[in-house]
Order: sequence, then structure tokens, then C-alpha cells
Amino acid sequence: MAVVRWLDGAVGPAPAATVPLLIVGAGACGLVAALRARFFGIESVVLERDALPSGSTALSSGFIPACATAVQTAAGVEDSVGTFVADITAKAGGRNDARLTRAYARAIGPAVDWLGSAAGIPFELLDGFTYPGHSRRRMHAVPERTGRALMDRLLRAVEEAGITVLTEAHADTLLAAPGARVQAVAVRRPDGSRETIGCEHLLLACNGYGGDRERVARLIPEMRDAVFAGHTGNDGSALDWGEALGAATADLSGYQGHGSWADPHGTLITWALMTEGGVQVNARGERFHDESGGYSEAAVEVLSQPGGIAWNVFDERLLALARTFPDFREAERAGAVTGAPDAETLAQRLGMDGTTLRASLGETRARAADGEPDAFGRRFASSLGESLYAVRVTGALFHTQGGLTVDEACRVLRPDGACLPNVLAAGGAARGVSGDRVWGYLSGNGLLSAVAGGWIAATTVAAAASTR
Ligand SMILES: Cc1cc2nc3c(=O)[nH]c(=O)nc-3n(C[C@H](O)[C@H](O)[C@H](O)COP(=O)(O)OP(=O)(O)OC[C@H]3O[C@@H](n4cnc5c(N)ncnc54)[C@H](O)[C@@H]3O)c2cc1C
Repeated sequence: MAVVRWLDGAVGPAPAATVPLLIVGAGACGLVAALRARFFGIESVVLERDALPSGSTALSSGFIPACATAVQTAAGVEDSVGTFVADITAKAGGRNDARLTRAYARAIGPAVDWLGSAAGIPFELLDGFTYPGHSRRRMHAVPERTGRALMDRLLRAVEEAGITVLTEAHADTLLAAPGARVQAVAVRRPDGSRETIGCEHLLLACNGYGGDRERVARLIPEMRDAVFAGHTGNDGSALDWGEALGAATADLSGYQGHGSWADPHGTLITWALMTEGGVQVNARGERFHDESGGYSEAAVEVLSQPGGIAWNVFDERLLALARTFPDFREAERAGAVTGAPDAETLAQRLGMDGTTLRASLGETRARAADGEPDAFGRRFASSLGESLYAVRVTGALFHTQGGLTVDEACRVLRPDGACLPNVLAAGGAARGVSGDRVWGYLSGNGLLSAVAGGWIAATTVAAAASTR
């Protein structure tokens, strides 16, 4: 349990050391903040509970949406902050925080460019498809196209910059003076020993509460029994601390789900399969929703099907596309993909009714031919071929989108809109830009919040330091 210990008077027991910026959490948010703070000459220490920093960032695909970047320009993609803001806002149905959305959209391009040019982290633009809701090609990834590689590259950059990352340092207690100024953070080591580190500013970069099953059941009841695919160490510490300090929270029922989590293999099956013409059928062989809507809300659709599962069905052309994704290749190696020369044989192999599957696929082929929308409102640009493949999937919770209320400088706010004296939050620890509904998540909102938020938080701390 993460707690706050209130100090009597402004000065508490002297910590071993005091740093200008103390960061809890060594995921994308914490590491980007530390790197950018170093650029401004601000010393920081990052506290990480794990022995090897991983977080949800390493579990992710590592795709970062960014606009007006050098990489986009080189690829001839015209994009702008305004266009990106419009896309995020449209997906969230206007339920997203407008100021934070603009701040993140404005920061992410310079952040990605700077990580490339100054921190030696090369980014490429994903091509071949766009994610639902993105009007431009703006998904950036490191060449390996995995979250683990993104983390390894960030960790290397942090090490080269001489930034201290204290691993196996589980922060559990904030020491705060009256007025909610945090003076120090106490950490627990695996051997039970404790250390206290003083801080001038504290950045909570310890993500959301997906790892806290009780809180998930309370705030997101429809995901109570869903697989949590994120980092289980993200147990809502930032919410516990923030609430104890008197901070406001927002969008707590918002989250990123995913309707394409290989079952039982536990691997992400790219949604590009759906956007490029694949479909989902349930265990009876029936289609049940418009797959072009987005993978987050698809999680709820899949979980409401018999057995809480669906089959992703696709053809040879889409198989080739899927194989460009490392997670898919891993799933294929693990035996997740079933192939068949036609729908009848596929149905037999999946144990479903052949007539129903043939009818479902026949309907999508007919709609692809006549260009009319199907019963779910989906339009098909292309038709599935004769040879088919399928992967059994379920709906999973990827990460929570609600969190501490922050302003556009990532300062944590009280319910009356005033800032806490020296506490910032970003990434999954703060509210996101998806609003409070599962369908509000535009792909990439997670790493957008983490990378842009970390970048902004460092700038805020630097600005505060320069005015002292
Ligand atoms: C399978 C999957 C795929 C995804 N793919 C994408 C994608 O392609 N694009 C995208 O934008 N988003 C994606 N996401 C979401 C994305 O991973 C997260 O939004 C993002 O990584 C959050 O970064 P963060 O730095 O806020 O948190 P994290 O990366 O989770 O880092 C938080 C760190 O804080 C540490 N920590 C927590 N509590 C404490 C404590 N008390 N003391 C010390 N340390 C603590 C944790 O151990 C962790 O290392 C995906 C998520 C999943 C699960």
C-alpha cells in the first residue's frame, strides 16, 4: 500500500540525499523525463521497483504516435498538431481533456525528434496501414518494433547520460509537510531495508492501477475478470498518494482494452489484421461487431461472446502483413495460427458450424463486392481470399486511462484547480487523453501520454528551477 506520512512542521528527518527531481517509475515516462531533465542540467534519480526496468512499456508494441516529425517529413506525410488533436478528440467523442490533449500533441513531435537526434534512439514510421481513427500515418517505432527494444534503448541513453536509476527500490511512502509539499520518498528494498531520498520535485511516473484487481473490479467492472496484459507492478500507487495529498482524479473508468489477445498464448495479435480486411467471429462462427471501430472497445465486444472469446479470421495477404509484427511471429511460433484451404475446413478445425462460418464470410465478401455497409455498418475495401487462417483471441485490459488530474504542465491539481506545491504526474499515473470510456482510446494514446508527459514534466521542473 502506498501511503503518505505527514511531517510535523515543514522540516522532517533529514534524508540521506536530496535531489532536484525524484522520479518514481522507470518506464517510458520516467526515463524520458530523466533524459530531458539532464538536457536542462537538472539532476534526477529514478526509483524502480523491479530489478530490470520493464513496466508496461517493455510489454507494449512500442508504437508512439507523433505529428510533424522529421521522420514524417522525410516520408512525405503532412501532419500537424491541429490534425492530431482533432483525431484524438474525435475518437474520445470530446470527452478528453482539451488542454492536456493539445499539450501532448504539441510536445510529442519535438520529443520524438529529440530522442532521435540527441539521445540516439532512431525512429521509423510504420507504413502499410493506418490505425482506426488516425487520419495520418504517424505511428513511430524503433527498428526492432518492440516495446522491449524501446526500453533497452531508453535505458542505454539514460546510462550514457550518467543518470541514476535505483532498481529494486519500491517506493511506498511519501513524506509530506503540511500544505502537501513532498520532502522525501521512502523506499523498501528486497531485503527489507529502507532508504529515504529527499526531493525538490517529485514526478509520479508509476503508471495506473491495472495491477490492482480490487480497484479494477470497482472502477471498471466489465474488465473484472479480463486478463491484464500490462505490468502487474502498476498497482495504483500514484492514485493512493495523490488522493492522500488532496489531489483530484479524473476519467477513472477510462482504459485501453484490446480485443485481440491470443488465447491462451497471451500475445498481442495486431489489429492491422482487422483494419485491412480481417473479421472476428464468435465460437458459433457468427460475426458480432464492426471491427473497424477500434481495438479498445473490441475487448468488451469479444468478452461478451460465448466463452469470452472470438476467432480472428484472415487470408494469405493479411498473414503476410501480420508476419511483419514481432508479436504475431511469436504467436505463430507458439502454435496460435490455424490455417485451412477453405471456410468449411477451417470451421471443422476450429470446432464450429461450417454453414454458419461460410455464411458469415460469404456476407462480408458480398459487401466487399457491392461496396455497401454490412449489418454492423462496416464497409470492406477488399474481399477475403479462399485460403483462410484463424487465431483464437480474448479481450484484455492493457492499461488504465484515468489518473491524477494534471494541468498542461503535468502539475498535479487539487479539486479547486490549484497545483500541489511540487508533485507532477504523467504517463499512466495521470489522467490520459481518452476520456472516461473504453471507446475513447485512440491507438497510441498510452505512449503519447508517457513520452510527451515525461518530456513536459522535465520542462516544468526546469522552468521552476530557473525562476528560483
Ligand atoms: C500489450 C500492450 C501493448 C501496448 N502497445 C502500445 C503501443 O504500441 N503504443 C502505445 O502508445 N501504448 C501501448 N500500450 C500502452 C503502454 O504500454 C503504456 O501506456 C505505457 O507504457 C505507459 O508508460 P509509463 O511510463 O506511464 O508506465 P510503465 O512503462 O508501466 O512504467 C511504470 C514503472 O513504474 C514502476 N513502479 C510502479 N509502482 C512503483 C513504485 N511504487 N515504486 C517504484 N516503481 C514503481 C513499474 O515497475 C514500472 O516499471 C500497450 C500496453 C500493453 C499492455
